[in-house]
Amino acid sequence: MTTTSLTLSSTEPAHTGVEPTPEWFAEIKSLAKKRNATLLAHNYQLPAIQDVADHVGDSLALSRIAAEAETDEIIFCGVHFMAETAKILSPDKRVLIPDERAGCSLADSITADDLRAWKADFPDAVVVSYVNTTAEVKGLTDICCTSSNAVDVVNSIDPDKEVLFLPDQFLGAHVKRVTGRQNMQIWAGECHVHAGINGDELTAKSQSHPDAELYVHPECGCATSALYLAGEGFVPADKVKILSTGGMLDAARETGATQVLVATEVGMLHQLRKAAPNVDFQAVNDRASCPYMKMITPAALLRCLREGKDEVHVAPDVAARAKLSVQRMIEIGNPGTGE
Ligand code: SF4
Repeated sequence: MTTTSLTLSSTEPAHTGVEPTPEWFAEIKSLAKKRNATLLAHNYQLPAIQDVADHVGDSLALSRIAAEAETDEIIFCGVHFMAETAKILSPDKRVLIPDERAGCSLADSITADDLRAWKADFPDAVVVSYVNTTAEVKGLTDICCTSSNAVDVVNSIDPDKEVLFLPDQFLGAHVKRVTGRQNMQIWAGECHVHAGINGDELTAKSQSHPDAELYVHPECGCATSALYLAGEGFVPADKVKILSTGGMLDAARETGATQVLVATEVGMLHQLRKAAPNVDFQAVNDRASCPYMKMITPAALLRCLREGKDEVHVAPDVAARAKLSVQRMIEIGNPGTGE
């Protein structure tokens, strides 16, 4: 099994030099109105981009909002595979991303050719792909999943069938542990941002904040450590919550805790603090910032709205096959909200 180097992705913001002033905010709103565009921002975007957007959320929730929007255009402030998913679910709308080089190391960890070769080794297997994949990979997938429903999706598959789970090895390990399924192959991909949140940091942080709750995204390298720490009694099991980013927001609104440690990309803190202003949210690793997400700068968004760039295209046959894998996931049960 191989992982591939980045192709589309870059981490250097190409569009800089614009500050998110009140004038910028007003111009963004006015241009979006003139273009008849809906502005969507992922939870990991810069705070100014989140604040100017019409909707903030997770990848799948935003794609569903895109499909229901009555505007001609969708401006997707997130990474490329997310804008592709919006295009797959809304083929008749024009979908723009403010910088098309904003990729994802996890989506880049498996190409369509890698998946074809893997399927050839397991011709009868059912392919389950996390939504952080390119449209081409989704087109070769039987059922997509999110971190919220990955367990239900795998449980829905005939127990005698081999499962190929991709691309995230930590989410795969979490699903394998919860389902107890042995006939499950897991692709060795990872998100370099989430993988950088490790068990040592988690242990140190939870020991120095013994009363805090702990929210862990299952893509984190520390998800296994969090469950281990809970099992060993270092952190009370009821304080550890393995949650998608949407699940974190729901939990934040309901928590009785005064302090919460958060193990995911740091952009998430902005929405959590808005959702529950009285709770002290702290990052387990405050360097866990996704450089691809942060390529969507105030300058990039302004250029996007002024020049109508960058448009996202998905070949119609690929989009049709990819849409089927997303729809199968939705039929199985609550897909939650994705990354
Ligand atoms: S945080 Fe990781 S999985 Fe999410 S977009 Fe960035 S590289 Fe991809």
